Amino acid sequence: LVDRISGKGSDAWSIHWRARELARQGRDVIMLTVGDPDMPPPARVIEAAVESLRAGRTTYSPMAGYPEVRAAIAARHAERTGVPTPADDVVVVPGAQAGLYCAMQCLAGPGDEVIAPEPMYATYGAVAGAAGASIVNVALRPERGFHLDPDDLERAVTPRTRVLWLNSPHNPTGAVMTRAEVEAAAEFCRRHDLWLLSDEVYADLAYAGPHVSPRSLPGMAERTVVVSSLSKSHAVPGFRFGWIIGPAELAGHLSRLVLCMLYGGPPFIQDGALAALTADCPEVGEMAEAYRRRAGIMVSLLENVPGLRASRPEGGMFVLLDVRGTGRTSDEFAYGLLEGQGVAVLPCDGFGPSAAGHLRISLAAPDGRIEEAARRIAEHAAPA
Ligand code: PMP
Ligand code: GLN
Repeated sequence: LVDRISGKGSDAWSIHWRARELARQGRDVIMLTVGDPDMPPPARVIEAAVESLRAGRTTYSPMAGYPEVRAAIAARHAERTGVPTPADDVVVVPGAQAGLYCAMQCLAGPGDEVIAPEPMYATYGAVAGAAGASIVNVALRPERGFHLDPDDLERAVTPRTRVLWLNSPHNPTGAVMTRAEVEAAAEFCRRHDLWLLSDEVYADLAYAGPHVSPRSLPGMAERTVVVSSLSKSHAVPGFRFGWIIGPAELAGHLSRLVLCMLYGGPPFIQDGALAALTADCPEVGEMAEAYRRRAGIMVSLLENVPGLRASRPEGGMFVLLDVRGTGRTSDEFAYGLLEGQGVAVLPCDGFGPSAAGHLRISLAAPDGRIEEAARRIAEHAAPA
């Protein structure tokens, strides 16, 4: 296992720790590295969790999650996709990250191949590696707005392919897959008899077009595994509350995996999550709107800066900035920006070769800080 996961994406956030160190020394650093929501979670969610703790809900809990929590996740998914979703198809996991890990353990094994478009979220390589599988990348090219070219999928498939792994809205590019794109991917999976692993953590933050879950397409419920969480939508990444939706047989395997890994999740977190899943939380839409607005601020302030190309995200909480026109690498630009101007952003090379020369700017900061960061980035881009 150690060999399978070593060197796979773990250093993608190293600039974050350097920035934290500078901030600790008293520098004014605008932290735009991590996608850690800056807005408060809905108050009712916190109240429900606190009340639950006070009521002594600190016991063990059912392996796959409380029945009412699984039912709430199933009902919410069914309402959004129009696909009947039994509660038995749902397993609660501590965050989408754990969900991806558990799902991959069940979907692929040693020697198997997983097709994943790149750039891809920095943990994917290790998640596949831990299962003994390897990732076969297809490029999401900047000139296509980082949208998928279905012909690339055909070229990547081999007799060992088991899974197509998609993420929309996408981290780090901000692309939201169109219905046609999702349909082409689904058709590809049906034709080659593949699982489709769909990472939907940013589903509530699709602001250009609606999020289309592949599970909603004909013949896909039996081969799609949806992984999602409340981390971004309800600004509770520390809850570690997520879920997997897949065919009941797979859910059974996942329950056994949860049994041997976790023995169920914390009851008070599930109680807080139940409040988030069953009540109307206007805060979710407000947060999505804030990220959209901040993306607009960042992109419009960088639009006419020579050497830079900022892409306007269609969803999520990041702006991708192409700095190749400055003649600097993403590392040179990002570390220079941090040391010189006190703005911390992520060089994207760790997300895949198609993101080389790009920076990921998190939008998890108040509008004023986003504006100030854009001003400093523009200043840093100017020739010395
Ligand atoms: N997938 C993607 C694309 C992510 O950006 C993240 C991080 N937010 C995760 C999965 C993991 O999310 P969670 O906090 O629910 O574990
Ligand atoms: N998904 C978030 C990101 O891409 C959080 C990751 C993290 O904290 N390690 O930044």
